Amino acid sequence: MNADIAQRLQDMAEQRLISSREGDTLFEAGKFDSAKKLYWEQAIKIVGSNHRIPAIADVGDGGERIELYIKLGPYQRANLMGCCTGLARCLVREGDIDSALAWLDEAGSLYKNSYFASEKPLYDWIDYNLDLPELTYQRLRACSISSDIFLSLGNTGAAMQRLWNANSSTLGLPPAHHTPRIRTKKDREKIATLITLRHPDPSLTSSLTLKDPSLQVRGSWLKLHIKNQLRTLSRFSFATFIWNSHLYIAGGQKDSLGPFYRDFLCLDLVKLDGWRALPDYPRLAAVFLNWDMVVHEDKAYLVTGKPRVDFFDLKTEKWGFITTTYKATPEDKKAGVVGGWPYPGQQLSSSAQQVTKGKLLIFGGIHGMTNIGCNLFMELDLKTKVWRRLSGYVMPPPDGDYSCPGPRKSASSWVSRDANRFYLLYGQCDRNGASLKGEPHGASDAFPFEDMWSWDLTTEKWRRERRAGNPPSCRSEMACTYNSKLDKVFVFGGYSPSIPTSFPTKNQEFHFSYYADTFMFSPPDPASPTAMVPSTGPSQKNVKAPKWKQVLTRGFPTYRCQARLMSDSITGKMYLYGGYTNSDYVPSRKSYISRSFGDVWQLRVDEPGGYFEGINLDEEARTAKVGPWQRCFNCGDSGPWKKCGGACKGQAFFCGSECLKDGWKEHKKMHKCHK
Ligand SMILES: [Zn+2]
Ligand SMILES: [Zn+2]
Repeated sequence: MNADIAQRLQDMAEQRLISSREGDTLFEAGKFDSAKKLYWEQAIKIVGSNHRIPAIADVGDGGERIELYIKLGPYQRANLMGCCTGLARCLVREGDIDSALAWLDEAGSLYKNSYFASEKPLYDWIDYNLDLPELTYQRLRACSISSDIFLSLGNTGAAMQRLWNANSSTLGLPPAHHTPRIRTKKDREKIATLITLRHPDPSLTSSLTLKDPSLQVRGSWLKLHIKNQLRTLSRFSFATFIWNSHLYIAGGQKDSLGPFYRDFLCLDLVKLDGWRALPDYPRLAAVFLNWDMVVHEDKAYLVTGKPRVDFFDLKTEKWGFITTTYKATPEDKKAGVVGGWPYPGQQLSSSAQQVTKGKLLIFGGIHGMTNIGCNLFMELDLKTKVWRRLSGYVMPPPDGDYSCPGPRKSASSWVSRDANRFYLLYGQCDRNGASLKGEPHGASDAFPFEDMWSWDLTTEKWRRERRAGNPPSCRSEMACTYNSKLDKVFVFGGYSPSIPTSFPTKNQEFHFSYYADTFMFSPPDPASPTAMVPSTGPSQKNVKAPKWKQVLTRGFPTYRCQARLMSDSITGKMYLYGGYTNSDYVPSRKSYISRSFGDVWQLRVDEPGGYFEGINLDEEARTAKVGPWQRCFNCGDSGPWKKCGGACKGQAFFCGSECLKDGWKEHKKMHKCHK
């Protein structure tokens, strides 16, 4: 048989197996209703009428993991992905982007589930693709369409990341995966544009409008003016918490070379009348970096990896300690515990910590033997003072483990309202730090996770969650808080070690990104779980599901990582403090040298109890500080502009004398200014 005929036979066989292509033909011919009907029917034919597609986040045992999807053959998988992306295209045309995203998530989930069918469990950073060009095509198409949707919503970070990851992770595939149909010119052009954006991009924020309330919410960042602000406040890697409407900060550093702080300060959030010094941490630690202080019953606990756990009594304002114990079980020893203690070198930092039901839960972080991060999940019962290993390994084993989150540091975490679930979001495996300690899993770049997990305290099992809606792009070192008054989770900023940014006009290229975007997550309501009943049609509009929204803010604190976001459980107010940025990445005025921040911001959101009333959005759109820049009151351009020197005391900025002249009359009226 000659090669030509073989190819034609294969094409014909594929055509029969990939029935979603008939839908594509109908769609291209403008027969949208017929296309939609075909995609839907074919999808149901594959999954069966009793299976819910698209799946709902946070429901059932599996989360992201769906047994049916693991078992699918490669052609069936590609075909079902084709139906999902086809339906998404139809729904985008109808303006139902909420439903479209649900179908695109399903296509992503179908791809992810092929990992779970691999012979050996794989770590998330391993690119796993079957050598079937149709699968690559469907994966890239789903990413390209979701990238377009995220861009239209102003979520430029996710728009860039989806397209970038899907393209770069499939580059190593054989030539059949590199046809013009799979690698489109349009996608290449899109990446060329997206790579030049900051997230958010100042050129877009003032014109951003709320397009879809199911995927976006309005918000506002307010910089707080604190009396007697200290000079030494700019820092990162510090510990912080809010207790009794007071913000506490301890330790940290100003720069990578220092100075390193050991102080302990407190700010009254009601009076905002300056920082008060508290007794320094009494131990002779070399540095106070990347530790956490977690409050339980008026004591702030500080775990440093030693059996002795220090605490600060918030009522007496005195330091004390408890002595904890641990006994390694045979299972613990199998997981790498040696010498009767889980943390090698008795060190622990950059972990994710929460306290719930009287237990301190600690996930991952770095210790004496690892720089890249581990996935050890430990519990300290604060009453009995006894440690227990819940899951994970002291050191990342050669193969992955699908039953628990991968090894990492600097992840975000929170606990659900019913106190029964510990959530874990993103973080990074610092693979480029491996060589320093001669560890396995090294690479030239760190790996930012794009996953969300929850640990059920009752069943003691992890679930890999789906991230529905309009979520933040993969990142690490972001600020995150659970606001119990609003029952919402908020995420701000952070850093991605593998998503590049390029500023051609400045001739600058970075292989990383810093973020200043804000997101909100509505957790599932444990009281009303959604039934896993099959969908009645492609639209997912009225389906109640836990979802991410982007918080659209006109102004925002400068792009940064390692800032901390905290909620005051008494008032429900949210505060952001500290962090740092690469000063090349955030160019600004000459006087701007410091890389770390000491500013305090309040986040207000358009939710009941979100302190959004009374904000003049029109005024804010024209005067709010956009990251390191000011917005010109008259023309709206952002840059290092000069503030008005009149009686308004600088409530407005102008890019030059032309704009000052043009906008003067309006500014005079709006801000009661005069010369
Ligand atoms: Zn101007
Ligand atoms: Zn003025």
